[in-house]
Amino acid sequence: MATTTTVVRQYGHFINGEELPPSSDRIARHRPSDGTLVAEFSAGTPELAQEAVQAARTAFEDGPWPHMSGVERARALQRLAGLIAENKEDLARLDAEEVGTPLRQARGDLETTVALTEYAAGLAMSLHGEVHSNLGPDLTGIIMREPAGVAGLITPWNFPVMLLAQKLPFALAAGCTVVVKPSEFTSSTTLEVAKLTRSAGIPEGVVNVVTGTGPNVGQVLAESPDVDVLSFTGSTATGQRIIETSKHTIKRLSLELGGKASNIVFDDADMDDALDGVLFGLLFNQGECCVSGSRLLVHENIADEFLKLVRARIEKLRVGPPLEALTDVGPLIHDSHLAKVSDYVQTALAEGAELVTGGQRLQLDGYDGGVYFPPTILDRVVPEATVFREEIFGPVLSVTRFRDEEEAAWLANDVEFGLANSVWTKNIDTAMRMSRALRSGTVWINTTIDGAPQLPGGGVKTSGYGREMGQAGFEEFTEIKTVQIRTGARTPFFGN
Ligand code: NDP
Repeated sequence: MATTTTVVRQYGHFINGEELPPSSDRIARHRPSDGTLVAEFSAGTPELAQEAVQAARTAFEDGPWPHMSGVERARALQRLAGLIAENKEDLARLDAEEVGTPLRQARGDLETTVALTEYAAGLAMSLHGEVHSNLGPDLTGIIMREPAGVAGLITPWNFPVMLLAQKLPFALAAGCTVVVKPSEFTSSTTLEVAKLTRSAGIPEGVVNVVTGTGPNVGQVLAESPDVDVLSFTGSTATGQRIIETSKHTIKRLSLELGGKASNIVFDDADMDDALDGVLFGLLFNQGECCVSGSRLLVHENIADEFLKLVRARIEKLRVGPPLEALTDVGPLIHDSHLAKVSDYVQTALAEGAELVTGGQRLQLDGYDGGVYFPPTILDRVVPEATVFREEIFGPVLSVTRFRDEEEAAWLANDVEFGLANSVWTKNIDTAMRMSRALRSGTVWINTTIDGAPQLPGGGVKTSGYGREMGQAGFEEFTEIKTVQIRTGARTPFFGN
């Protein structure tokens, strides 16, 4: 596996168990830390995407994978987890370089990737149905749980390998075959993992990867009648397009879309924990995270004091290249995304917010092509403000004060998204009431951006539907079949 930053990685698509030669039409990836060209991905066409779908279809219809025992699939997934663990450092470096995320965090993403794959291996063994034996003396009902078929997996650029691991091993555990379309900006780790699936003994055609753009490749997965289930993570706008393009095939969709999470800090919270949580929630992956705590809702009794602490800590953090050990916050994904983040800050100021810190692009010495934006705090943000309502996907915190629990829940819910929220309080009654009042797929109490392979994640409202991880995420890739068996003589329905 190539990891050096001076060699340009060149990749072909991965179809039917082998990597194709790089195509002449390629997508260049310049790393956001300094603009150096680091990878070229083959630009997929609709025809190639269709070819990959056919490979997956054939592997599903004729291949051994869906028919293997759960134990055999589990062993293959365990081997895959082992291979990912062996290549952890190289894979972490690829993601860190292409995304811009600090290496320390990318290493954590790989730990999670291994754990997700191990957990999915266990699920492969546990896949089972139900038998109903109390339907009367001569009727037995069997509910079989079967693989859903060919799964299309479309991932965004922010956590390439970890978001892949929230889908791929679960689909494989269920017995599905897959076609993956990673983001055109960060495809390396997906292609590397695809190669590892072969080393793990997963048969050819079971895992296929086509790189390229959404309109050329992803859209084929949405449109194709040969794709039975589509699991998509990305923006709400693209999710809506996928609903539209997939509608003729009536395929099952699982949509993990945008978010607008808040960290809600009550005046009885442990201040040190809340402070660390607010910083982590905001700056994990530079804020390029669907569950980023981009809103701080803070009780008015402690707001000024708490904000002073947040500001002091944020101004000490180091923004820099992801592969440098001392970096806390890496560069954003690309220039046009930085321009969008910067526009949000300007809009907030025009709409009456007060700039506490940050707000302007950073130029770092020696990193001229770098896409750096500092952690930014906007105070006095009103619920009508654009930054309060829209997903920024960058290190920008908007601060709004609340008077009481009811107002806190109302503010948190008063957005179109419903992915996650975090509550900081030492009062169990407040914690429980807030857990019930918040309309989001996840509620964290005295923690944030936490998780485990057993726990499903997903959203409500425009954050999507369907779940990833846990038993619920696994079942997205299965289908139920009801078999009814009547024994004994049939009672005629029509007379003789
Ligand atoms: P996009 O929606 O732009 O892209 C996501 C993926 O969809 C990419 O691979 C993209 O391809 C592809 N795509 C684009 N157009 C189409 C299409 N017409 N048909 C099929 N596929 C298409 O999101 P980003 O990559 O910009 O990622 C950021 C977004 O992801 C944020 O909104 C964030 O909230 C969300 N997200 C949600 C998470 C969740 O669990 N809910 C987790 C992480 C992120 P390409 O860009 O290569 O052309």
